Amino acid sequence: MPTRARRDTALRALPKEAPRSVTILGSTGSVGCNTIDLIRRQPEAFLLEALTGFDNVELLAKQAIELRPKVAVVANPDRYGALKAALSGSGIEVAAGPEAVVEAAERPADRVMASIVGAAGLRPTLAAVRRGAIVGLANKETLVCAGHLMMNEVRRHEATLLPVDSEHSAIFQVFEFERRDAVDRIILTASGGPFRKATAETMGRATPAEAVKHPNWSMGAKISIDSATMMNKGLEVIEAHHLFGLPEDRIEVLVHPESVVHSLVAYVDGSVLAQLGSPDMRTPIAYALAWPKRMAAPAERLDLVRIAALHFEAPDEIRFPALRLARAALKAGQGAPCILNAANEVAVQAFLDGRIGFLDIARVVEVCLDRVNGTAAGSLEEIHGLDRSSRSEAARQVQSRA
Ligand code: NAD
Ligand code: MG
Repeated sequence: MPTRARRDTALRALPKEAPRSVTILGSTGSVGCNTIDLIRRQPEAFLLEALTGFDNVELLAKQAIELRPKVAVVANPDRYGALKAALSGSGIEVAAGPEAVVEAAERPADRVMASIVGAAGLRPTLAAVRRGAIVGLANKETLVCAGHLMMNEVRRHEATLLPVDSEHSAIFQVFEFERRDAVDRIILTASGGPFRKATAETMGRATPAEAVKHPNWSMGAKISIDSATMMNKGLEVIEAHHLFGLPEDRIEVLVHPESVVHSLVAYVDGSVLAQLGSPDMRTPIAYALAWPKRMAAPAERLDLVRIAALHFEAPDEIRFPALRLARAALKAGQGAPCILNAANEVAVQAFLDGRIGFLDIARVVEVCLDRVNGTAAGSLEEIHGLDRSSRSEAARQVQSRA
């Protein structure tokens, strides 16, 4: 039994030791801002090495002025002048463009938070991995489109991936890496999203505003739409396959509308271990920032008496075909997950822009999986090529439905 003293230690701020340096790739996004919120609460525990954003220069400059990273990078090169002007006289180095984001990832930070959205995060995340960094991985699309390459590089460079996705953080916390044979299967929970009980007709008419309204989590637009289609859970099955080395048929999905049990690991002796908490990304982010220790996070304390009941149901792959497509892509292997991911990114953007309907997202992905040849997907160049081919086919499909 843990003693009272040990419990208190676990809840306290990080002990006084040298501050940990952190680079946040995608600091202006939802995960990025949550990471900053945690760092801001314990300024003595962290130093900022680099912050990167895509084009929200105002927010990036505000974060930089407050937290004083060595460098601030805007990925959109057209915004260089604006960032330079906003940080003039601050002493903070300024850079712009995709290459500068990769260079930011290569800088010697103790921890890199990979929180760019989409395949755009692949090169910077890979750059951090290749210098053997400890990477807090939120950017699941990098593992979906280049899982084998990424995991090989993790092993080769002795990098560490700490999952930030709440489900994978949960599994990581209860997974016996030393006794993999004892793991029977893992169970990812899914909230079911805003359309858990909706009919296909309702979903067919859904607007972007309705689809981004997640019942439990506040997140960026892309992942919110992915949650509504349940493609997010499909991407997470692929992510889990790479992180935990289990085949597709030993990764289960359960719909759990309360989002309290963040995921579970079932062992061969019948034991099932789970991690629970309020749905607040600051808990898994804090875990990745403080690992192997723990740090305080301001997430609401879990009150099971108030919650009273937890519910679980099987996912419906008929109403949510994206989940079936992601499983099929994982089973097909080679470049199929990369094709799935790229097509989904294009289709989600088209839906957000009002160019296709909600149900068209999975249709576009399905056609791309059928039509794009994914046999060559070993090298980074092949993955980029496949990503481009799938995006072109998806754009054609969007055009034909617009
Ligand atoms: P977001 O859209 O809020 O933020 C994305 C960040 O990436 C922003 O800083 C943006 O400027 C940057 N970015 C976008 N395109 C870029 C490009 N081409 N080059 C460089 N930077 C670019 O997204 P988010 O919700 O914070 O999600 C980030 C990642 O974390 C995604 O992979 C998502 O699936 C994953 N994730 C998010 C949550 C969440 O709570 N938001 C939970 C679990 C996993
Ligand atoms: Mg998740």
